[in-house]
Amino acid sequence: MISKANYDFDKKCNEADKKGQALTDKLVNKYERKMNAYINKKKLEYERKCKNEIRKLEWKEEKVYKEKKKPFNLVKFAAELLQENVRLRDSDISGNGLCISCSKFCTWKDHAAGHRWSRLIKNLLLCFTNINLQCNGCNRTTWPRGNKEAEERVNAKYDENLDKKYGKWTNTQLREIKEAYFKNDYDGNWVLWDKIVNPTEKELRKFVESQLEENELRWKWKDFYKPSQNWRKIYEKYVSENPMEE
Ligand SMILES: [Zn+2]
Repeated sequence: MISKANYDFDKKCNEADKKGQALTDKLVNKYERKMNAYINKKKLEYERKCKNEIRKLEWKEEKVYKEKKKPFNLVKFAAELLQENVRLRDSDISGNGLCISCSKFCTWKDHAAGHRWSRLIKNLLLCFTNINLQCNGCNRTTWPRGNKEAEERVNAKYDENLDKKYGKWTNTQLREIKEAYFKNDYDGNWVLWDKIVNPTEKELRKFVESQLEENELRWKWKDFYKPSQNWRKIYEKYVSENPMEE
């Protein structure tokens, strides 16, 4: 005979498994789509190169192909800027820092901004504590389709060090927000500046502006650092093309 408690426990485990599997499938699909898009892009590029080679042989003028530009996405921009700022925040004057998971000391080239909870969990996408300096090795271990056991080990260490870095219960709080996201409780509310905020266009712009200032401030202290893109110029172009109604 199965007791009711056992039955409920099994049911809960099954539900949790299903949710976990759904998230894994979503991530794997996303990376597959991304990879296929990259392969197709390269294929097109080489085909065009070949055609131009032939045109050259035929003494014809080369054709110039315009690149399609993706529309600007403020959330994506904010997330990328925050990631770069996190790496600056967590590294010393020469760009070296400690990995949140394995505590290895690594150089700017060898580390990344590692999310504890996936970027798919939008509520935590712009949360300062959810992103920390991580060595490329640990970062890759937590990618989808990695070794599950190794991933759990890396994440357990991440959780432990989160509490050491930001105070007790940080890991529990992040976990609660993540769980609330799946129950849709926080669907429209994100963690911005470690507060729960509704991410309106205005709030997001305020967030980006504060991050731009932080980026420029940190630039002065770290002589090795060159921004990966001209953050302010890109943002100002967007603002001038999309004025906000007062
Ligand atoms: Zn590491």
